[in-house]
Amino acid sequence: MDVHLPKQETRRIACVNPTTGEVLGQLECADEAQVAAAVARARAAQAAWAKCGVKHRVAMLRAFQENLQAARSEVAAAITREAGKPLAEALVTEVLVVLDAARFLIENAGRFLRDEPLPHGSLATKLKLGTLVREPHGVIGIISPWNYPFSIPATDALAALVAGNAVVLKPSELAPLVALNLAGLLQASGVPEDVFQVVIGEGPTGAALLRSDIDKLVFTGSVQTGKGIAAAAAERLLPVVLELGGKDPMLVLDDADVDVASSAAVWGAFVNAGQACLSVERCYVHRSLCAAFAEACARKAKQLRVGDGMHPETDIGPMIHERQVQIVAADVEDAKARGARVLAGGMRLPELGPNFYAPTVLADVTHEMRIMREETFGPVLPIMSFDHDDEAVRLANDSEYGLAASIWTQDSKRGERLARRIHAGTVMVNDVVSCFGISEAPHGGVKASGIGRTHGRFGLEEMVRVKYLDIDRTPGMKKPWWYGYGESFRRQMEGFLDLEFGRGLSRKVRGALRGARAIGAKRL
Ligand code: NAD
Repeated sequence: MDVHLPKQETRRIACVNPTTGEVLGQLECADEAQVAAAVARARAAQAAWAKCGVKHRVAMLRAFQENLQAARSEVAAAITREAGKPLAEALVTEVLVVLDAARFLIENAGRFLRDEPLPHGSLATKLKLGTLVREPHGVIGIISPWNYPFSIPATDALAALVAGNAVVLKPSELAPLVALNLAGLLQASGVPEDVFQVVIGEGPTGAALLRSDIDKLVFTGSVQTGKGIAAAAAERLLPVVLELGGKDPMLVLDDADVDVASSAAVWGAFVNAGQACLSVERCYVHRSLCAAFAEACARKAKQLRVGDGMHPETDIGPMIHERQVQIVAADVEDAKARGARVLAGGMRLPELGPNFYAPTVLADVTHEMRIMREETFGPVLPIMSFDHDDEAVRLANDSEYGLAASIWTQDSKRGERLARRIHAGTVMVNDVVSCFGISEAPHGGVKASGIGRTHGRFGLEEMVRVKYLDIDRTPGMKKPWWYGYGESFRRQMEGFLDLEFGRGLSRKVRGALRGARAIGAKRL
C-alpha cells in the first residue's frame, strides 16, 4: 500500500534592507538532506582541488583579488543594502579587509604551507629525518554572522581554500545575499562550483551543517550559539574554531590625549552602529580626565549623522533588526534606572525607521549594570572612571569575555606593560578595532570570546592538519631501545641518559662509553 505523506513546505527566508524594510529577495532554506548533499559534493571535489597545488590556488587568489577590486563598489553597495552600514564602512571594513587578506595569503601561503624540516635534538633520534607536512582537513564548514557578512566568511574561506580544503558556507539568514556575491566572485576566479558552496538558512541549517560529514567547523557568532556548537561538536570530536562575542574595554590613562582618545572611543563604539565584535563596549577613564573626556565624546556623538548608509554623508546606519534595537534600549533603561547619566542619545529614532537608535554616551555607569557586563551590540558608549592603573586592569579583566582591549597613553612602554596584563586575544595601544584589518594579526579571543584563531599565519594553521613524517635513515639497523632487555641493557641505557643529561664531562664520557655498547648489541 502506498503511503502518501503530506508534502513538506520548503522554508523560505526574506532578505530585508534594514534601512527601508524593502524585501531584497526570497531564498529557499536548505534542509538536512540538501546540506548533506552539498557536503558530499564538496568532499568529492576536494581531492582534485588539493592536488592542483598551492601555486594554482594562489593564482586563484590573485584572480579573486582582481575581480573584487573591479567589483568593489557593487559589493560595498550590496553589503550596505543588506546590513545597513555606511558605504564607506562597507568599503573599508569589509572589501579592503578581504583584498588585504588575499594579499597576505598570496604573499605567504606558499611559504607557510610548505613542508617544514624538523631537526631532532636528542642523539637517539639524530638518524631520523623529521618533516612537518600540512594537509588540508578536507571539507570545512563555515557558519557566519550578519554583522560583517562579507569580510568574515571571505577571510575564513580564502584561508581554507588556499590550504586545499573545500568549503560549505552557511551565512547568516539576515545577510545571505552578500554570501552569494562572494560565491560568484570565487567561481569567476577559478574556484570550482562544488569546492565553494553556500547553503542558505537559519539556525537549523547551521545545525544540519554541524551534523554533516564536515571535517572542521569555523563558527563566528554569539556565545550562546557557540556554546551549543561546542557541545554538539564534542559529541563527535569535530574540531571547531569559535569566534564569539566581546565586551571590549578601552582604558584611557591619565597621560592620554583627550581629543584623540575621545574620537577613537566614538568611532570604536559606534562603527557599524556598535554591532562589531571588537567595538568599544566599556570605557574606563582616569578620574582626572573623565569629565573632559565624557564631554568630548558626547559632543562628538551629537555631530554624527544617522541615516541611510547609501548616502555618502551618513556616519551611522540602522541596526540589523528591531529586536536588536529593543535589547539596546532595554540595557540603556536598566543603566538609567541604576543611576547612569545620559550625555548623548539614549533614544530610538522612529522618524528614521524602526531600526535606528541614536549614538549614546552614558556616564556614571557601574559594573552592576547590564550595559557593563553583557554584550550590548549597539551604539552605546558607557564611561566609568578609575583612580589607578591597577584598578583599570582589574576592571578590564572583570568580564566573562576576552576578545580585545585598548589602552590609551602617550607612553607606549607603559601601555605595553599594561597590555600584557589584560586578558584578551588582542590588546591595542592607541588604536581600536583596526586589528581586524591587519591581515598578519591573529584574530580571536580568550574566555567566553572563543577558541582558536582566524586571520594571519595562525588562521591558516587552523585550516590544515599537521602530519609528522619520520624517515629513519638506517633501515638495516635494529633500534637500540627494542627488545633485548636485561642487566646490560639497563646499564647501557643508564649510560645513554648520563651522556645526554648527566652533569660534568667525565660523567658524560663514561656514559657515552656505556651507552655506545647499546649500538650493535643483540636485539630480538
Ligand atoms: P548568532 O549566534 O545568532 O548566529 C551566528 C550564525 O549561527 C548564524 O549564521 C546563525 O544562523 C547560526 N546559527 C544559529 N543557531 C544555530 C545552531 N543551533 N546551529 C548552528 N548554527 C546556528 O550570532 P549573530 O547574531 O549572527 O552575530 C552576532 C554575534 O556574533 C555577536 O555576539 C558578535 O560579537 C559575534 N561576532 C563575533 C566575531 C568574532 O570574530 N569574534 C565577529 C563577528 C560577530
